[in-house]
Amino acid sequence: MLYLIGTPIGNMGDISSRAAEVLNAVDYIACEDTRVTGILLKKIGAADKKLISYHEHNKASKGPEIIGLLKDGFDVAQVSDAGMPAISDPGEDLVALCIREGLDLTVIPGPVAAVTALVMSGLSTRYYHFEGFLPSTGSERRKRIEKLRGFDETIVLYEAPHRLKKLLSELEEAGFGECRAAFCRELTKRYEQVIRLTVSEAVSYYEQNEPKGEFVVCLEPLKEKNEPVDDALIDEQILSMRDSGMSVKQISGILSENTGISKKEMYRRVLNLLKS
Ligand code: SAM
Repeated sequence: MLYLIGTPIGNMGDISSRAAEVLNAVDYIACEDTRVTGILLKKIGAADKKLISYHEHNKASKGPEIIGLLKDGFDVAQVSDAGMPAISDPGEDLVALCIREGLDLTVIPGPVAAVTALVMSGLSTRYYHFEGFLPSTGSERRKRIEKLRGFDETIVLYEAPHRLKKLLSELEEAGFGECRAAFCRELTKRYEQVIRLTVSEAVSYYEQNEPKGEFVVCLEPLKEKNEPVDDALIDEQILSMRDSGMSVKQISGILSENTGISKKEMYRRVLNLLKS
């Protein structure tokens, strides 16, 4: 059996008794960083376990090796450095391999930074979109941010502290300035902090206060704020997306989703504007 096991996102007290029991019982533990997992295993009395390094850069070769162990009848646990495996962390590929090979797997659930932050944010939890990390640079990042404009549910982002200011200025540029946001930092740890500001307020706040620690950003959607969409704004967005190198098809796809105008109609509109 493969066990995907949730581990603490900061506070070691959050390891569940079932997670500790299974980690003690399995034959092998696949983990991202053996030093990080070693600290946890020591705490739960499982320091002698056989560890397999399994991370983003070796998962293609290590995945089949783990499948081989499972086929030989061993029990294997997979953990990430923090939180749930497969959530902005390795795990997804291993699950897919296991399913393909007809092997048994189960999950021992634990904390997830995104859900912990969402609950603390004070924003709507009825519908939410988990974005995780945006692509770090380039047109893929711009495309994702454009896409976020169309969502009408709370958006949950992961961001590294040294990139938070860049993210905020990009969100402000994309029109999110007036949207409320919660900046959830160091969750479950001693210096846990949640700051609730609009995106524009946060731009000024983090100019004065250097972001430190791990962040989850929960963001109010833009869509409700902007409705009804005005024509001049659509034209402006078409030109800006064209300038960022997007094709007519890409632009009309995104804007059709954001505005509710049909793809065909939006395609015609984009073509007309770009021809003129
Ligand atoms: N698998 C993890 C989960 O279940 O949440 C996420 C791992 S991802 C590689 C790491 C990112 O999660 C960090 O950059 C940060 O955005 C967020 N994160 C993890 N722990 C956190 C914490 N204690 N407080 C705030 N954000 C956290």
